[in-house]
Amino acid sequence: MNKLWDVAIVGGGAAGLSAAITLARSRRSVVVIDDHRPRNAPADRVHNYLGRESTPPAELFGIGRDEAAQYGATFHDAQVTSVSHADNHFDVSVNFQDNRTSTVHARRVLVATGAVDELPEIEGLAERWGRDVLHCAYCHGWEVRDHTITVLGTGPLAVHHALIFRQLSENVTLLRHNDFPLSDEEAAQLARRDIGVIDGPVTRLRITDDALAGVELETGATVACEALVVATVVSARIDMLAPVRLTTQEMRLGDQLLGTYLPVARGATAVPGIYAAGNVTDIRAQVITSAAAGTEVAATINADLAVVDAQELQHA
Ligand SMILES: Cc1cc2nc3c(=O)[nH]c(=O)nc-3n(C[C@H](O)[C@H](O)[C@H](O)COP(=O)(O)OP(=O)(O)OC[C@H]3O[C@@H](n4cnc5c(N)ncnc54)[C@H](O)[C@@H]3O)c2cc1C
Repeated sequence: MNKLWDVAIVGGGAAGLSAAITLARSRRSVVVIDDHRPRNAPADRVHNYLGRESTPPAELFGIGRDEAAQYGATFHDAQVTSVSHADNHFDVSVNFQDNRTSTVHARRVLVATGAVDELPEIEGLAERWGRDVLHCAYCHGWEVRDHTITVLGTGPLAVHHALIFRQLSENVTLLRHNDFPLSDEEAAQLARRDIGVIDGPVTRLRITDDALAGVELETGATVACEALVVATVVSARIDMLAPVRLTTQEMRLGDQLLGTYLPVARGATAVPGIYAAGNVTDIRAQVITSAAAGTEVAATINADLAVVDAQELQHA
């Protein structure tokens, strides 16, 4: 582990793997460290991905790994616990699954660690996440077209969700789980699109034959539905960056916290030499846009290293 890598990539999802391909094809030495917890793991298919529409997530990652490995990228199945400054490089602390620890030395670090979803705390909801409890019309909307869809209203994003899912089904209801304000204009928009509004709160999900059958309200009433749309709080995974003091910023819609992200400028974080791409920097990013960000930021890192390489030759 004394080797000085050109780039250590933390996270081997769409963003990290795309960056690995670009960097390895540019003959940069690249190590990808990944602990196999991609955000979309609960889903059985990846949708909206040009050329690989409807591929299982694990299969897509396998293809990406093979593509990066064929150009020389190295993989560690392990967790990065910290990234810290060393003399003229970064030390990346790594925990392997068998509890071995090690330090990877790299000239540049690309953080492609994605994000985690915090789900509304309702009995039975977490078990259905990524199946019939959904967050995104572009990821799963087609699969629930013409179904009975309930949007769990926990803030202003619910109105947007209801209008977007209405494009996919005539049977959409907005269920106000809490009493977030609904403006007259929003109420009129929902009425014009025949979206019913029911007051909650919801106490639990009703499941029949391993499928969502409805949601139970505190009043004891049940609202029948085949899909439940929820807003999650999407948090960037950056714990390992504490030693370099990088922090996230909040993203909000009105009063509603949508999530946190690591701010970047063309992939560069506030710490020179540390870059980031994918969901960790943009909680709205999908798989294909995370892959695109990985490719773009990899090119920026390669250009950064090319200039440094030329300067070092000049001073040699
Ligand atoms: C249920 C669900 C379904 C979805 N379906 C779709 C869909 O159909 N189409 C679509 O376009 N988008 C979909 N998305 C969104 C999609 O998951 C993200 O856009 C995508 O995962 C972002 O890619 P990424 O590479 O940034 O992060 P990820 O894919 O989450 O990859 C990050 C990787 O970094 C690793 N990692 C994190 N921290 C560490 C660490 N400390 N050390 C080592 N490794 C680490 C993780 O284990 C993971 O493998 C879905 C999301 C959810 C929640």
